[in-house]
Amino acid sequence: MALIVQKYGGTSVADSDRIRNVARRAAKAYDEGNDLVIILSAMAGVTDRLIQMAREAAPEPDRRELDVLLATGEQTTVALLAMMLKEMGYPALSLLGYQAEVLTDCSFGNARILEVGAARIQHHLKNREIVVVAGFQGFDPRGNITTLGRGGSDTSAVAIAAALKADICEIYTDVDGIYTADPNICPKARKLDAVCYDEMLNMASLGAKVLQIRSVGFAKKFNVPLHVRSSFSEEEGTMVISEEPAMETVVVSAVTHDKDQARITLKKVPDQPGTAAKIFSPITEAGIVVDMIIQNTRAGGQTDLTFTVPRSDFKKAMSIEEKVADEIGAQEVFGDENIAKVSVIGVGMRNHSGVASLMFSTLAKEGINIAMISTSEIRISCIIEEKYTELAVRVLHTAFGLDRED
Ligand code: ADP
Ligand code: ASP
Ligand code: MG
Repeated sequence: MALIVQKYGGTSVADSDRIRNVARRAAKAYDEGNDLVIILSAMAGVTDRLIQMAREAAPEPDRRELDVLLATGEQTTVALLAMMLKEMGYPALSLLGYQAEVLTDCSFGNARILEVGAARIQHHLKNREIVVVAGFQGFDPRGNITTLGRGGSDTSAVAIAAALKADICEIYTDVDGIYTADPNICPKARKLDAVCYDEMLNMASLGAKVLQIRSVGFAKKFNVPLHVRSSFSEEEGTMVISEEPAMETVVVSAVTHDKDQARITLKKVPDQPGTAAKIFSPITEAGIVVDMIIQNTRAGGQTDLTFTVPRSDFKKAMSIEEKVADEIGAQEVFGDENIAKVSVIGVGMRNHSGVASLMFSTLAKEGINIAMISTSEIRISCIIEEKYTELAVRVLHTAFGLDRED
């Protein structure tokens, strides 16, 4: 007997049949005597459609109202699952974010969980009810509905598992575990039995959207064991846990890609103190996160400066920089949305040289141009043209000896 938190993503609840599949899985775990909390996403594609509808209502929809709208996706699935379970004779009930006491800050669209009050869920569990909670949503101190950013149901699940001190948090998705690269684009990717929190944090921050990065941060902080697995099979998936000593012996353990990238260049910027602050302060104030930055020195007291931002913030960042360029006397601003970031990751990289040169020569052999590079002691990332993303991931996966042996 255990306290299990199960989270099902959008593809696992995409239609009535799939929700029924979730109901059967939940019923099985319940019949085995476990206490069960189920966290659901919206049906696949629904959040995107709601965003589209909002844009038709207003080009820059009010952020508070957008969260009210987006939260309806998860409201639908929890109600349907609870109905099915009741119909099957199981005591179940659905709870929205505020009913499950998921308190967040006020950042509409990207809210952080401050606290989960477990009392109400615990009360229902004591009555042997299956508690079905809407993921991705919470409420702020003023009682407004908030959402946690794309992929946020993972974080709802882990935060609720931490608050309840659950024995395990199972993340059910459309792949059967965490792989050495996205298995949907790299057919030779290998499934990992286990990954440590730090490595998963790296993978998530560099584009492996199988887990939202904040969910991994929570899992690490509260030591919640995660099991990432498929809702369509019984196969064991991947455990995300605190230590995986074998990893240190592998130089590169994963290749990731991230297409949510755009690049902005300011040309012929006056090369003098304070310029960088003038360029980046308004971007930060607008809540946009800058990732890579390159500044070149040039003759004649002028320099070029290039940086990357999430693609979803590209238009906003461009209009900010066009104003900044006028103010500081830069010659011109141009942007590029057709880029992607590919990265090789591995804690074992710390003690090895030659990783960067192998990465660069592998890309060169395919004629893939590298536009920007950034490194840390456990990863190397390159910005390339978006159209080469899949090819780059596959050739790097092979070059670093990660391919599955058939
Ligand atoms: P869900 O809707 O269940 O939350 P997501 O689409 O958010 O599912 O995440 C699952 C997807 O993550 C997979 O379909 C896969 O394409 C992608 N992915 C990216 N990198 C990896 C990786 N290293 N291992 C497994 N899946 C990955
Ligand atoms: N429905 C939300 C999204 O599509 C949250 C989630 O699925 O985790 O981003
Ligand atoms: Mg997801």
